[in-house]
Amino acid sequence: MQNNTFYNEILTQHNMDPYHKHELDDADFSLEGVNPSCGDDIILNLKVENGVITNGSYTGDGCAISQASADMMLDLCIGKTKEEALRLADIFLGMIKGTATDEEIEELEEAGVLKDISHMPARVKCAVLGWHTLQEIFRDEQAAAAKPGEGIRPANVCHM
Ligand SMILES: [Zn+2]
Repeated sequence: MQNNTFYNEILTQHNMDPYHKHELDDADFSLEGVNPSCGDDIILNLKVENGVITNGSYTGDGCAISQASADMMLDLCIGKTKEEALRLADIFLGMIKGTATDEEIEELEEAGVLKDISHMPARVKCAVLGWHTLQEIFRDEQAAAAKPGEGIRPANVCHM
């Protein structure tokens, strides 16, 4: 790993002081994402107005990589249109698979530090969990629509 200290610092920072880890009462979408191989279990909440993600949060538990990655994903995607967010998710998944270009990885800003996860197969599902859950929300918006009082729909298990 090219800059281990930097990588660890960012991971620690997002776990000690996650910016987006909280409930979101007025969320339009809520979807649970589970990575059974590690025990990561998050609920991703998004508020979307006129096609723009205006707010987002996650709750749940998981390892440092899953939590930091979800936090960084929200940092990047809040304020973006749904299409831009999905494009960034594609780039992130491409980065993890080793197919993204350096220019593309630059667009991921801080999340680019997770690049080297591609060499750690056991952690790949941790890193992609938040991004994959974002994709799932927009893949089936009706199923992911937040229904107050009804709870969230059953877990979306991350297959990758
Ligand atoms: Zn994990």
